[in-house]
Amino acid sequence: MSETHSGEQTPEQLVAQHLIEGLRSQIGGSVRLRGIEVEVGATVELDHAALMAALGVELPGLEVRIREVAVLFQCADCGAEFPADEHPCPVCGSARVSLVHGEELGISRAWAESA
Ligand SMILES: [Zn+2]
Repeated sequence: MSETHSGEQTPEQLVAQHLIEGLRSQIGGSVRLRGIEVEVGATVELDHAALMAALGVELPGLEVRIREVAVLFQCADCGAEFPADEHPCPVCGSARVSLVHGEELGISRAWAESA
């Protein structure tokens, strides 16, 4: 919104700004953060190193951890949950599945300076 170079930003920079805006609205600007953990689903096409770098630019000195969340399917017929490499359903053979995990993109943990 207030950015002047939005046309030149990488997807990782946009995501970093979005994540930090959301975090700030939750914890308030007075809290001095020491670190955050970002969970990124395996289907999310972002460069983890670039995302870490972009978050570091937004919040200098911040410890950034990235946790990749593996894809997990749930069978629409029998309800079994299984990883992507076992598709179709290893229990009943159905190919009707929904994605349970793998699309995550958000801050899963944040910890503050213990003043
Ligand atoms: Zn099944």
